[in-house]
Amino acid sequence: MTPGTMSSSPKSAAYDVIIIGGGPGGYVAAIRCAQLGLRTACVDAQVNPRGEPALGGACLNVGCIPSKALLDSSEQFARIQHQAADHGIRVGDPVMDIAAMHARKDTIVATLTNGISQLFKANQVEWLHARGQLLPDCAVALSAPADHSAARGTIRATHIILAPGAAPIALPNIPFAPEAVVDSTAALSFTSVPPRLGIIGAGAIGLELGSVWNRLGAEVVILEALDELLEPVDRQIARQAARQFKQQGLDIRLGARVQQVQAQVQAQAKSKSNADGGGLQIHYQQKQSPQKQQPNQSVTVDRVIVAVGRRPATAGLLSPKCGVSLDAAGFIEVDAQCRTRAQNVWAVGDAVRGPMLAHKSSEEGAAVAERIKAGRAQVGHVDFNTVPWVIYTAPEIAWVGQTESQLNARGVAFRSGAFPFSATGRALAMGEPVGMVKMLADRQTDRLLGVHMIGPHAAELIAECVLAMEYQASAEDLARTMHAHPTLSEAVREAALAVDQRAIHQAPKPKAR
Ligand code: NAD
Repeated sequence: MTPGTMSSSPKSAAYDVIIIGGGPGGYVAAIRCAQLGLRTACVDAQVNPRGEPALGGACLNVGCIPSKALLDSSEQFARIQHQAADHGIRVGDPVMDIAAMHARKDTIVATLTNGISQLFKANQVEWLHARGQLLPDCAVALSAPADHSAARGTIRATHIILAPGAAPIALPNIPFAPEAVVDSTAALSFTSVPPRLGIIGAGAIGLELGSVWNRLGAEVVILEALDELLEPVDRQIARQAARQFKQQGLDIRLGARVQQVQAQVQAQAKSKSNADGGGLQIHYQQKQSPQKQQPNQSVTVDRVIVAVGRRPATAGLLSPKCGVSLDAAGFIEVDAQCRTRAQNVWAVGDAVRGPMLAHKSSEEGAAVAERIKAGRAQVGHVDFNTVPWVIYTAPEIAWVGQTESQLNARGVAFRSGAFPFSATGRALAMGEPVGMVKMLADRQTDRLLGVHMIGPHAAELIAECVLAMEYQASAEDLARTMHAHPTLSEAVREAALAVDQRAIHQAPKPKAR
């Protein structure tokens, strides 16, 4: 049994706050509520692969954390294969032990999910393992999934926070089939490397999972309906990313809308191994084809991952008269302060408007806790202009603020400075001199408007830029801030200097005569 405070029967019939959902939005809200002295219960139905109740939601159990564990394992493998010799390290042919890789991942997940239950215990948050349904007047009906130890009955609170998260979207004509056509959750536990892997969707999930299995030896083809790769990303950064992915062997086909995976999928799924059965045929419509190919194309693979987005996980959450409404896309309707239409019912995270990112959910969860304690919706702070975005490919892609296209569309005059990692000693020493930092600042005031990067540890480097933007810093502020040498962060400072065309380690642009 998982350690912590899980109760099979509620300790009380009435709480100050009940939170439905124990992911990054819900558990952070619960801890913050408890810190503020509110009597708090968190209702969560998640179980881990061993069937044990586990806090942390999709992020910790089947999302961010296990995928990062696999990304790291596969990166180590690729480094040993391709870079060890450059460092003078001679190794034989490395072999990936997939079972050991998964065991490592599972240990990391268990450490973190158990850590949350310990934090609940330390903060006296009551954890109720059950499915919660919102009833009118801030009541919550608890029902047991298949699990007899789950809590049941009806509990009440002065305030409710809904944090149900999101679940993978399935494509209408493409049913999931075990070991054959899977979602991003199942793709984290492949027990062998598929020789040919098809991925539908080149979003963060498709690119991250594609990178993992490609590094471990799969031939990966990613089919993306849009004409451009990584549409929300700065175009220059996206082009560099496309080049890197191509070099790594990822076959990304743009303008390719998948319509069907051939009917034999179902029969083959039953036989478990598609590699033996001749494969799965993915049929897609090619919007534009430089080779003037037929619009209807197909590709044969052994497994398919469907990574076409996530939808709010609100099934069974709301009783008909609870007063909370959903929008046309199924998101819980909230105002800027996360208030739903029902009195004292709040909602945060992936199930409400805004980016589906764990850190955005956590920020909303903490802010709502503070609003409840203060009795005013105006307290708490979530700044949508400074949300950091990261795609954990190699190299990593990270950004904050606006892109050039967004600024141009709004008619904002700006200056831009870019600096390549290849000109920093640290990136060269690491053997990763790829990518760049690009900074955009207001032409008049020099205030930072956006920072975009692709390169080693971009996910960590973006934090400095988020803080700078949060403090409304100028590019000059960053340029005048001392950065340790030799570090990757020097590329951030040099990009800030480049905004004023005075980067030190970059030849000046030739002057117009
Ligand atoms: P996404 O929406 O980012 O990407 C899905 C892609 O699938 C889109 O580009 C879409 O055009 C494409 N697509 C849809 N239907 C298609 C079809 N029939 N054929 C071909 N392509 C099709 O979704 P995702 O990558 O599944 O991620 C889901 C959510 O989780 C996103 O909001 C994402 O931001 C979040 N997430 C973030 C991270 C991260 O921050 N690193 C990691 C994982 C997930």
